[in-house]
Amino acid sequence: MDTALPKEKFVGYRCSLCGREFAPGEVTYTCPVDGGNLDVVLDYDSLRQELRPEDIFAAGETSLWRYLPLLPVADPGGLGTTLRAAGGTPVFAPGRLADKLGLRNLWIKDDGRNPTASFKDRASAVLVARARQIGAEVMVTASTGNAGAALAGMAAAVAQKAVIFAPRTAPPAKIAQLLIYGAQVILVDGTYDQAFDLTVQAADEFGWYCRNTGYNPFTAEGKKSAALEIWEWAVQEGRLAKLRDLETRLTVIVSVGDGNIISGLHKGFKDLVALGWLAQTPRIFGVQAEGSAAIANAFFAGNETIVPVASNTLADSISVDLPRDGVRAVRAARQTGGTYLVVSDAEIIAAIGEMGKVGIFTEPAGATAYAGLVKAVHNGQIKPEDPVMVLNTGNGLKDIKAAMMAVPEAPVIEPSMAALKKII
Ligand SMILES: *Cc1c(COP(=O)(O)O)cnc(C)c1O
Ligand SMILES: [Zn+2]
Repeated sequence: MDTALPKEKFVGYRCSLCGREFAPGEVTYTCPVDGGNLDVVLDYDSLRQELRPEDIFAAGETSLWRYLPLLPVADPGGLGTTLRAAGGTPVFAPGRLADKLGLRNLWIKDDGRNPTASFKDRASAVLVARARQIGAEVMVTASTGNAGAALAGMAAAVAQKAVIFAPRTAPPAKIAQLLIYGAQVILVDGTYDQAFDLTVQAADEFGWYCRNTGYNPFTAEGKKSAALEIWEWAVQEGRLAKLRDLETRLTVIVSVGDGNIISGLHKGFKDLVALGWLAQTPRIFGVQAEGSAAIANAFFAGNETIVPVASNTLADSISVDLPRDGVRAVRAARQTGGTYLVVSDAEIIAAIGEMGKVGIFTEPAGATAYAGLVKAVHNGQIKPEDPVMVLNTGNGLKDIKAAMMAVPEAPVIEPSMAALKKII
């Protein structure tokens, strides 16, 4: 199924636990020996010889597909569809938030502006490309909502069949998206973790191609595109970097549930280092909700042992009992001089309000990264001179109930000036 072109940049996988290497056609999901997450290995030597950053910068495509030469998939086709529109998200400089925090350089990259309104589009777009390449007819994923919406939307764009398992407690807007995109939607009367296990069994039994986060090695490859964009932004803006060297080390802050986004970002920066296009990776800070902090716990324990928790947070997108990409997520912070932060639901809600005031509307899991920044500044872990990039991972319209907790109710008045004057 996976007979590569004679000179394929995607050369195989390496297990993140045991280091064993596998050829592209040899494995599909995790390490057959120990269940470890697999890193996609590219042919860095020939990429380095054949490709220059300028070739990427000259790409016509503005979406994540401008990085196709660094992605382990073939061009997915689907021109003129939302599949081609994932990534390429804007970076804002929210001056008032920077002033309030006493930071000289603060940016927010808004991945809530992806086609299905979350960061997950990056992974799902690359997964749909992979499915087309290997001739998979049906794709399946477990999801707290966003990964499913992303897969449903990207799949619909190119008439690929998708089956989505989500907890029945997912926010209604996310369930609506799944249904509107025409996926086969199955709501599980249980947790995300239970839905996860069920999809793995179903994929096995029915021969479906499973996109599950932290299980399918290609999700991190899609997610690494955000790191490539941050790098290109830094180089192009000339703000932080000469072509090969980040002058001042950037700190990237992101929320963490399964740990796949943070692992994907780390992979993207490592790929750039391997190509000689980046001197050192930015520091990566992960932020977890107090009620779902299995990865932060391992980080603070100084090991890589992920002990499941009974998750309880209103940030549904990062509510995970057993993170599926925990080991690599611990390393993303540890190996880059970063750290983990843990924030309460109240701090997350407050962060939704703060970001809203500069025109960025986030769902709770998106605001979690900003809540972590506030804490890191107060703790002195981020200093005024440190340049910081906060990643907003999801749009606020995804979870209106949580948004309304961040603001007072609007007054209702009779339509008269007299009534208006009473409240103004
Ligand atoms: C999935 C998700 C996350 C966390 O990503 P993980 O890979 O599970 O760590 C954060 N924010 C939003 C909005 C998400 O949908
Ligand atoms: Zn292994």
